[in-house]
Amino acid sequence: MNGHPRRSAYEVALAQFDEATSKMPHLSPNTIKFMRVSKRELIVNFPVEMDDGRIEMYTGYRVHHSTVRGPTKGGIRYHPDLTLDETRALAMWMTWKCALMNLPFGGAKGGVIVDPRKLSQRELRRLTRRYATEISIMMGPEGDIPAPDVGTNPQVMAWIMDTYSMHRGYSVPAVVTGKPIQIGGSQGRFDATGMGVMFMAREALKHLRISAEGATAVVQGFGNVGAIAARYMQMLGAKVIAVSDVNGGIHNPKGLDIPSLQQHVRETGSVLDFGGADTVSNTELLELPCTVLIPAALEGQITEDNADKIRCKVLAEGANGPTTPGADKILMGNGTFIVPDILCNAGGVTVSYFEWVQSLQAFFWSEADVKRQLERLMVDSFNSVLNESREKSLPTRMAAYTLAINRVADALELRGVYP
Ligand code: GLU
Repeated sequence: MNGHPRRSAYEVALAQFDEATSKMPHLSPNTIKFMRVSKRELIVNFPVEMDDGRIEMYTGYRVHHSTVRGPTKGGIRYHPDLTLDETRALAMWMTWKCALMNLPFGGAKGGVIVDPRKLSQRELRRLTRRYATEISIMMGPEGDIPAPDVGTNPQVMAWIMDTYSMHRGYSVPAVVTGKPIQIGGSQGRFDATGMGVMFMAREALKHLRISAEGATAVVQGFGNVGAIAARYMQMLGAKVIAVSDVNGGIHNPKGLDIPSLQQHVRETGSVLDFGGADTVSNTELLELPCTVLIPAALEGQITEDNADKIRCKVLAEGANGPTTPGADKILMGNGTFIVPDILCNAGGVTVSYFEWVQSLQAFFWSEADVKRQLERLMVDSFNSVLNESREKSLPTRMAAYTLAINRVADALELRGVYP
């Protein structure tokens, strides 16, 4: 990748916001100014005792972008390259995602600069408990509710819930979502993001009058989102011809059997060396001709440098921020149908909302109820984005943004500026 200067995630988030608000002449400049910045940003440096007795210092963040529509909501990322800039971008995207889905939340994001694969379970637990304590001044069931993201999982959420509860002296399950079902998690939350990506790919194919049966899918990332999206795409009747993880990619034009591949990953820790598949690089994977391309890893994967080589009919964004604004223009020019991230991967936070409601009420829904409500909300939002895009002649991403930003702007103007 070369040629064009690389924009940071936050520069991308701001460019998307500026482009969307430039198409919303009814918005007051004051409202735009207010929505453009995060409300609060916390940086924490904290010690963790390693198994050998050494103390390591770690840096973590928690950013609240907006509290205008309700408590803040957003995941916690453990990644060695995490930055404050990236956390800010991810928090802002959460605000638009929650507003687009009409969930009563503002956006947040947090994380720690760490490679969780290099820590033992005990080290990870100590790091999580200390980080949770450090951000507890900004976290709570009524104020800010974390969830899993890249590098975290239900076990990490269980430790956060326990740490917060120990400080209170009683159990507070509603302080996090994505926690294990045994301690108040929701049915269907684990699969929710990947299942939602499949619903969105399915709706996009329907819209384009392409049959899912025999369609091909390529998935970048085989974690919380990618592996599950791949499995549901196979269940939908599509042939998943290539997937990748941090170690590299595999390709089999005849199709990969995802449950067997998941078993292989459990045994070997990677998708590589799966029977019958060739190895491909990340660059080659993204450029494979396919019906549906699902980036489900990190930001900034499809840029002005490779967008003209992307050969899919539908780009279903499982990751947050995988496509830069420059790449958007090239993809649209090539007729690619984009299901933007704030719609495509909103299944996770939507079921997080259901989980939060269940935790607050201590009354639990069946898996069938969760899935039915998830499908209904996502298909409704897909149709709203499509209608907005047609009515206002906007690209789908801008249609999603303008719908979301309008809802935040409305709430902001109704509440007014304090004092
Ligand atoms: N980390 C997920 C996201 O980016 C889920 C956030 C949540 O459930 O609060 O949407």
